[in-house]
Amino acid sequence: MMNVYLVGGREKSLLRRHPWIFSQAVKKVEGEVVSGADCEIFDSKGQWLARGAYSPISTIRARVWTFDRDEKIDVAFFEKRIKTAREQRRGLIAEKELSAYRLIAAESDLLPGLIADVYNDYIVLEILSAGIEYHKEELVTALKNIFPDYNIYERSDVAVRKKEGLKERSGVISGKQPPENIVMTENNGVKMIVDLKNGHKTGYYLDQRDNRAVTARYSENAKVLNCFSYTGGFALYALKGNAREVYNVDVSQAALDIARKNVEINNLDVDKVKFIKADVFMYLREKVKSGERFDLIILDPPKFAENKSQLAGACRGYKDINRVAMSLLSPGGILMTFSCSGLMTPDLFQKIVADAALDAGRFGQIVQYLQQAGDHPVGLPYPEGFYLKGLVVKMID
Ligand code: SAH
Repeated sequence: MMNVYLVGGREKSLLRRHPWIFSQAVKKVEGEVVSGADCEIFDSKGQWLARGAYSPISTIRARVWTFDRDEKIDVAFFEKRIKTAREQRRGLIAEKELSAYRLIAAESDLLPGLIADVYNDYIVLEILSAGIEYHKEELVTALKNIFPDYNIYERSDVAVRKKEGLKERSGVISGKQPPENIVMTENNGVKMIVDLKNGHKTGYYLDQRDNRAVTARYSENAKVLNCFSYTGGFALYALKGNAREVYNVDVSQAALDIARKNVEINNLDVDKVKFIKADVFMYLREKVKSGERFDLIILDPPKFAENKSQLAGACRGYKDINRVAMSLLSPGGILMTFSCSGLMTPDLFQKIVADAALDAGRFGQIVQYLQQAGDHPVGLPYPEGFYLKGLVVKMID
């Protein structure tokens, strides 16, 4: 067991129940250092504050498991956290007849560094912290106790694990290998094909579920450009909302192949849909040159900023695509624009979109504010949990 003593004054964030202790906040560590093992965290006067996981090479040097001194980090601990998370989502799952949802949203569900997504009878784990890695066996036992008939698969093949001294890994943890494609349902019966082994993240972008559904409202007779389409989720709702034509654009051919199948399995009209393998930045510029116009454009780019040093560049990137997209919209057209960079605050994002409109020489109105779905909650002490925001902008002229 390690004891971690904080620099005077650096206990403040913990007293507000924020779960991170940065390396500069640590004054002294006692005991044998084991990556991911439990540590007792004390303030500079020796007062016990929390129990956490120690991560010797990470800038986030420790992450809090619990503020309750009696709580041990064992199977029962994980069971309690997982059950609470599942209860929180029960209403949402029933209301939208979801067969896929985020079960654990890391820090916001009080399990720092753990993403767990459910797809039918598969639970896909993304382990992002040394602490979860250390307690993996107890975590898996807890999951099996609560979900006895489920298969557990790991998709920890992400570069950020390096920061915690962990290697990338993926594969079966328990149960069967996932088939090449599974079909899950979201928003009351929309079918979605997911490739758990090779798809992005844990296979799919569950966080956009509610926002996809919003698309239908703006699609009546519209010519729709779905940029960064991935497996074409937004396109399905545009078609359900009676879009005239839908263009899916993505660099990934594998994603576009699934996008086509998704249209087919939902019995929507594949003749209305185009699947274009292209770089969105170049594609938009080509359309400007050719003078083509769209009635609805969806911009759901990947994260442009991973850290603060990338934020300025990210702002330029967001402004650029938003400006070009606006210039492609017909009068009265709609832009659904998103940013999933946590560092991009809603205020800053709105300002960038406003600047883009100025540069495009257009006047627009925000008609709807959008955000990540309810199974991606934001822990009140952990505002970093809020990352996905979107604006629906109507171009008036
Ligand atoms: N809108 C999607 C999720 C988008 S994720 C959904 O509803 O599920 C971002 C997507 O952008 C990924 O599919 C990735 O392949 C694609 N991508 C990244 N950079 C790109 C680029 N420059 N041009 C086109 N697609 C890109």
